[in-house]
Amino acid sequence: MAAPKVIVIGAGPGGLAAAMQLGHAGAEVTLLERREVVGGRTSAIEVDGFRFDCGPTFFLYPRVLAEIFRSIGRVLEEEIPMERLDPQYRLTFGGGGQLDCTPDLDAMDAQIARFAPADVGQLRRYLEDNREKLKRFRPILESPFGSPLDLFRMSLLGAVRHLHPLRSLGSELQRYFSDPRLAIAFSFQAKYLGMSPFRCPSLFSILSFLEYEFGVFHPIGGCSRVSEVMADVARESGVDVRLGEAVTGLRFEGRRVSAVETEQGTYEADAIVIGADFAAAMERLVPDALRRRWSNARLRKKKFSCSTFMLYLGIRGIYDALPHHNIHIAEDYERNLREIEVEHRLSDDPSFYVQNACVTDPSLAPAGKSTLYVLVPVSHMHDHIDWSSERDRFRDLALERLAAIGLGDVRERIEVERVITPADWQDDHHIYRGATFNLAHNLGQMLHRRPRNRFEELDGVYLVGGGTHPGSGLPVIFESSRITSRLLLNDLGLSSEFIDRAALAGC
Ligand SMILES: Cc1cc2nc3c(=O)[nH]c(=O)nc-3n(C[C@H](O)[C@H](O)[C@H](O)COP(=O)(O)OP(=O)(O)OC[C@H]3O[C@@H](n4cnc5c(N)ncnc54)[C@H](O)[C@@H]3O)c2cc1C
Repeated sequence: MAAPKVIVIGAGPGGLAAAMQLGHAGAEVTLLERREVVGGRTSAIEVDGFRFDCGPTFFLYPRVLAEIFRSIGRVLEEEIPMERLDPQYRLTFGGGGQLDCTPDLDAMDAQIARFAPADVGQLRRYLEDNREKLKRFRPILESPFGSPLDLFRMSLLGAVRHLHPLRSLGSELQRYFSDPRLAIAFSFQAKYLGMSPFRCPSLFSILSFLEYEFGVFHPIGGCSRVSEVMADVARESGVDVRLGEAVTGLRFEGRRVSAVETEQGTYEADAIVIGADFAAAMERLVPDALRRRWSNARLRKKKFSCSTFMLYLGIRGIYDALPHHNIHIAEDYERNLREIEVEHRLSDDPSFYVQNACVTDPSLAPAGKSTLYVLVPVSHMHDHIDWSSERDRFRDLALERLAAIGLGDVRERIEVERVITPADWQDDHHIYRGATFNLAHNLGQMLHRRPRNRFEELDGVYLVGGGTHPGSGLPVIFESSRITSRLLLNDLGLSSEFIDRAALAGC
């Protein structure tokens, strides 16, 4: 019998991970990517010998990807050397104070004592509570949510007591730390999902737990290197990876997808996996008349994550004293978050993040030089902000603000520079409203209320990546690829046992 034909749209981490597994299982897989490089938001930007990660720089919880590699007979650590970072990152507070966050809990307590002696010991309590929380939450992250009835599965009912679904992350942290800066130190990670900790559900306290418990890693070559290796592994698993070939439309027989169209040709399909940004792909590829729950009108009413303003700077010399990851929290953090999420205006005093990756990985720049990656969380696209007029002003503001972490002379040291604004995310990367972290992760848009892995509106259409369950961020995106691959393989009559076997064995 001929192998079933599966088309995967988009070579981001979600599409790549799904393609690897589907190819290994014996499907005939074609992976179509509109850009000339793999990785999507997790691709590399290369300029004059400098190499930057376009998006992700924090590689957390490698376990999921390690299990996926193992399920297809590969060893992640052998294919992609990684370094665990210590300190994990430096946090500086606009209102005063600095923390070098490390998994060494005694060293953390010594720093916490300088902020608030009464809070010493609370980090250990916090980690213990979150260890239990992750244990309860993992089965939820690892299973599909095909209907509201899935909410009543035992795992979720048992977990509710530990997850406090209605509490915000900010108020959860205030239960542990009296100093507001410490509460922020263990909740700002909500920004990894593009959300304010004051609005994000408390169950996401597991994000900071994952850092302290399992480490913050830097894959040598950057997170984009992970995408490149995955593309190689996919090819070796028999996947036909086609770059520079954008999907322009889908063909349907009734509600069932039958083929995928590109400018180069038409590909018949038994099933397709959409790894492109969910909302943008719906608008561009699926006729509105075929969608009810996710129609264009309904999509417009959904909540979307924030966006990011990016500077990629090739620098003369290296800032030796600056750690790999640096997060600066605005003096009035709540106001900064309100400006991003509620008022949709640019802040005069924004929080920002700087990666100084060459202190760990000199391979990313020519000798005697280094890279700086600057990320400023900003509103997704909104009428209040016109990026064609704001771009240069905001670039200057961002460079000026870098003085707050000791980079006062950065302008004189810039050799190469690239900028990405929310408008570029939207127009060049085809991300709906430039919302870099997809649909927001509020309770109304999670679990069965997020677009489902086996897409509920159409037959033969599956979703992978940050727009489906469990959500945005590399570990959960990789998890989405396992959930989706299992569903699809079983629907096609192929075995997905290899996925479960590796997951059960753990890494
Ligand atoms: C600035 C930034 C920083 C981030 N930092 C982190 C971090 O530190 N850690 C972390 O875990 N996560 C981080 N993330 C979040 C997330 O991990 C990444 O965004 C991730 O790349 C999303 O993966 P994806 O597979 O869902 O989509 P994408 O990476 O966007 O991949 C989708 C792919 O589909 C392609 N495509 C779109 N339309 C078509 C079409 N019509 N035909 C063919 N191909 C198409 C796109 O070109 C793209 O390659 C960050 C994201 C951003 C933007």
